[in-house]
Amino acid sequence: MRVLVTGGAGYIGSVVTAALLEGGHEVTVLDDLSTGHEDAVPEGATLVRASLHDSAPVLADVRPEAVLHFAAKSLVGQSQESPELYWENNVGGSLALLEAMRAAGCRRIVFSSTAATYGEPEEVPILETAPTRPTNTYGASKLAVDAMLTSYAVAYDFAAVSLRYFNVGGAAYGRGERHATETHLIPIALQVAAGTREALTVYGQDYPTPDGTCIRDYVHVTDLAAAHLLALPAPAPGEHRIYNLGSGSGFSVQEMVDAVRTVTGHPLPVVMGPRRAGDPARLVASSERIHADLGWTPVHTALTAIVADAWEFAQRR
Ligand code: UDP
Repeated sequence: MRVLVTGGAGYIGSVVTAALLEGGHEVTVLDDLSTGHEDAVPEGATLVRASLHDSAPVLADVRPEAVLHFAAKSLVGQSQESPELYWENNVGGSLALLEAMRAAGCRRIVFSSTAATYGEPEEVPILETAPTRPTNTYGASKLAVDAMLTSYAVAYDFAAVSLRYFNVGGAAYGRGERHATETHLIPIALQVAAGTREALTVYGQDYPTPDGTCIRDYVHVTDLAAAHLLALPAPAPGEHRIYNLGSGSGFSVQEMVDAVRTVTGHPLPVVMGPRRAGDPARLVASSERIHADLGWTPVHTALTAIVADAWEFAQRR
């Protein structure tokens, strides 16, 4: 299939681009390189440097049969401090992209949504039918795009899938996480192991969990990429599907610290800090729906496998 990947110079977008190329797809990447890296775009894909707001001529030129939409701002803290960035880029940018698709006659889309659309869960594991009450602007902006996709499916026969990622980690195809501003647990822990940061601050040890630290559902980026390839042809015109993507088991921050110590052999000094605002105690996905519909099953579920691949990537850089 001829596809356009927005945000293909970023972490997950570049891994999925590599997987698409491997699967025989023809890929154009649209990325403004605001947070992505040109050298992350896999060889074999064509890079067009443009923002979502300027995507119409690109779509008119490329005439893709489908779009995989990763381009977004994705920092929770930043979304609270500068919400306009999230409404402008994530919501305004996505609307411009959908309109560009409509004009170019392209109606198939896979969208990177997030567990942050659910907010603080009433029940764990979280089903796609759970209430969506995001606790930050990042989650709210992604939820707004999910709603946009539903209405474009109804009104304009779009075939759409929203994939709600839980905590993505690991590396694949020589591509991994490298953000100028790092806020995520695994890369921060690995910076400590690599000696570029002194200690890891654990945000809160008084949560109602067995060891008092927060529990998250970590999914390997290889498994995540596989889900995108399965999702791409799945919906019929007029259909908007929503799927959670997690591994279905939760690991605590303390368990992650232990895994990083095991993989790296580094003592990993830890500072016990206060809770981070807006962090729910436990976020674990039910991925039963995508398993039942598309046969997706995560394979790389061991915490040490996720950390080992991220560590190998970090060391090679
Ligand atoms: N965390 C932490 N120290 C850090 C970064 C994250 O203790 O330096 C915790 C955070 O509070 C959360 C978990 O690690 O419980 C995962 O956080 P991350 O930011 O990686 O992903 P999120 O779950 O917020 O999407």
